[in-house]
Amino acid sequence: MIDIGQNYAMIRSTINQHARNVGRNPDQIALIAVTKTVGLPEIVQAIECGLTNFGESRVKDALIKQDQLKIKQATPVNWHYIGHLQTNKVKNVIGRFSFIHSVDSVRCARAIQTEAQKSGCRQKILLEVNISAEQAKYGFKPDDLENGLEDILGLTALEICGLMTMAPFTEDMGLVRSCFKGLKELQSSLQAIYGPDLNLEHLSMGMTHDYGIAVEEGATMVRIGTALFHQT
Ligand SMILES: *Cc1c(COP(=O)(O)O)cnc(C)c1O
Repeated sequence: MIDIGQNYAMIRSTINQHARNVGRNPDQIALIAVTKTVGLPEIVQAIECGLTNFGESRVKDALIKQDQLKIKQATPVNWHYIGHLQTNKVKNVIGRFSFIHSVDSVRCARAIQTEAQKSGCRQKILLEVNISAEQAKYGFKPDDLENGLEDILGLTALEICGLMTMAPFTEDMGLVRSCFKGLKELQSSLQAIYGPDLNLEHLSMGMTHDYGIAVEEGATMVRIGTALFHQT
């Protein structure tokens, strides 16, 4: 039997330990429970255990789960959209997620601008960066982001809050760490270029097999599914 409460406690204490290793305040790191492989019962259990941030990577599944929770009158939680977002799906996500982590092109950002303006809301976003430059991966190339930001900063219905990345899936933890370091460095260099006009406070990085490293390298949001819902 999976004990979500126990897994949550274990993950939280691992986050806290890694934060303390590098002198960070553990309160600055949010745990996002990724629910793409589980259903409503697990989500309800996780809410009962005190989790308040949930992540989904498919629009349709996410909206169904959100609606089911509403019917159940569960405690309201924050939803994070973390999967690739096709422009034709953008209209469905506006207003339904606290953050979209996966804005991976200027085109995607423009589509969010259009739909958010129609709905009269402002959407918090993170810009996804393909730090490891893998062919199959979505995200801005680090070198393209500075130019992309010029365009995106003009989109008034978007509130840029930070950067997101996924490390390569590998046992080479040195490579994983350099990927997270790369995102942190990009954050610093862009922040230096744009100054107070740009807020990049959040770094969304770290999943089940690498979140400890991500915390050491500056993550403010870790996105965890397997360790919470599947491992014991
Ligand atoms: C599935 C997923 C996660 C969680 O991965 P685990 O290895 O199960 O913790 C995190 N981020 C994204 C973008 C995902 O799609």
